[in-house]
Amino acid sequence: MSYNQEDEEPFGYSQMPVGSFSKQLGYGYEDDNDQDPFPGAPMSSDNKPRILLMGLKRSGKSSIQKVVFTKMSPNETLFLDSTPKIVKEDISNNSFIQFQIWDFPGQIDFFDHTFDSDTIFGGCGALIFVIDAQDDYTDALIRLRQTTTRAYKVNPHIKFEVFIHKVDGLSDDDKMDKQRDIHQRANDDLQEAGLDITFSFYLTSIYDHSIFEAFSKVVQKLIPQLPTLEHLLNILIQNSCIEKAFLFDVVSKIYIATDCMPVDMQSYELCCDMIDVVIDISCIYGALEDEATAFDNKSSSTIKLNNGTVLYLREVNKCLALVCILREENFDKQGLIDYNFHCFRTAIQEVFELKENTKQKPSKYLNDTGLSNGYMQGPAT
Ligand code: GDP
Repeated sequence: MSYNQEDEEPFGYSQMPVGSFSKQLGYGYEDDNDQDPFPGAPMSSDNKPRILLMGLKRSGKSSIQKVVFTKMSPNETLFLDSTPKIVKEDISNNSFIQFQIWDFPGQIDFFDHTFDSDTIFGGCGALIFVIDAQDDYTDALIRLRQTTTRAYKVNPHIKFEVFIHKVDGLSDDDKMDKQRDIHQRANDDLQEAGLDITFSFYLTSIYDHSIFEAFSKVVQKLIPQLPTLEHLLNILIQNSCIEKAFLFDVVSKIYIATDCMPVDMQSYELCCDMIDVVIDISCIYGALEDEATAFDNKSSSTIKLNNGTVLYLREVNKCLALVCILREENFDKQGLIDYNFHCFRTAIQEVFELKENTKQKPSKYLNDTGLSNGYMQGPAT
């Protein structure tokens, strides 16, 4: 493995100031001209899409939040206290992802007059309901129905996500059976209640990467620029002979976009591990005394695996990194990959700048619709 803190930006493409995104990377709804991804759904007071994490007591809500966003190790969650009240966690520090998680205590009573559902569900982008798959889930399904009925009345634009959680203790057959059963019963409940809602189901555990992958999918639905990001990634991989590319939020290891090739869990896990390695090495060897973070726009890393595959990481901004998987023989054209990466990075910057200044003339990297003009270069034939 080689770890590079490059001295100079190749090709003179250093237009992007380090950390220039983080403050303005909000989803930009403050501008009247911006398209609201949740039409009719008010945002939270600080204009951040809000994610609610709900479910019965001991279903694993606090553990999920701690493992994904605070790097707590799964074993430490054994000692977590039960959540006694609504915990509002703001996930915006150093992270691209700007949203709030409201962790509810399992025993909350919706019919209690102190429960202000307008405020709670009104500005909510997604509601994640956690079901403990190792326990009897009859009560959880009743609570799911009550919660969705209440939430849908207040805000029909909420995305309803169900995490069938703690599946690490189950056999593969058991997982499938439980998923099928929960799917069936939850949808029957919806029909009975006459609600036009589609649940998305995920099998999750804090003991593997499934929880990060599920969170990635939930967060992606809240990113209005997702189609543009995917389009840019598709152009990047096509022109650079890359097999798979992920755009990661470095802090949480959630991927906010990937190209159109299917995601396989092993590739995703490899990329997550690479981010851990880069951050750890940066913290140990890269930090200067007066700098809080060693992950900056010169951070990059290359890991060659013994199966002829290369993992290549480049910093996009202080919260985002591009991690690519490619065949070793295609890494010979690293100059081309780096050139295309710089086009990609500039385009990403413009995707977010366009929101802030809608009158800005799109540059050569983006056309009027905000999509890339494919300015990247393909390999010479
Ligand atoms: P909460 O009351 O919903 O916030 O639940 P907690 O987060 O306090 O978790 C309750 C228990 O479930 C803790 O002992 C966790 O260690 C355990 N737990 C959480 N997630 C998982 C998981 O994915 N697998 C397993 N086996 N246990 C989990």
